[in-house]
Amino acid sequence: MSSSTSSASVQSLNTLLDTAETLCTQRGRRLTPIRRKVLEILLQRQRSVKAYELLDEIRKVQPGAAPPTVYRALDFLIAEGLIHRLDAVNAWAACMDAAGDRHDILVICTECGAVAEFSDPKLHRQLAQKVASAGFVLNHHETELRALCNPCHEKQLAHGHTHPHSHAHS
Ligand SMILES: [Zn+2]
Ligand SMILES: [Zn+2]
Repeated sequence: MSSSTSSASVQSLNTLLDTAETLCTQRGRRLTPIRRKVLEILLQRQRSVKAYELLDEIRKVQPGAAPPTVYRALDFLIAEGLIHRLDAVNAWAACMDAAGDRHDILVICTECGAVAEFSDPKLHRQLAQKVASAGFVLNHHETELRALCNPCHEKQLAHGHTHPHSHAHS
């Protein structure tokens, strides 16, 4: 365990893990050690994490851990609403407010994997209506928006300014 983490963030991490544990217990589900560990890693990162990164972390505490073990834990955590699956970046992120309102809009930075979660049932209903008007049924309660976080956007702008060649617009 790293000792560089501040006590404040350790405390909030433990609070979030306790909340997850309580939610599972209330539903008669069990947050097994491996499920808890996967959730803990995601909560610590506070951004989206890829499967191989997760597996690397898990193997630090459980050297023989196989990918299916991690995927099963992820499936459980998704089913319990404790994490979000992000197809846009092929990764997973912890839900930072699992006990609160369901997040239906997820914004993901495609550069660094930062995530912002929103609960906006009205906007989501409008989206569903728009989709329905085209003859489709929205079958996922989470909508992902690919974006750039401000730091990544600024980096890209700075990079653009110092770039020796100007990109031709096609
Ligand atoms: Zn969430
Ligand atoms: Zn970013």
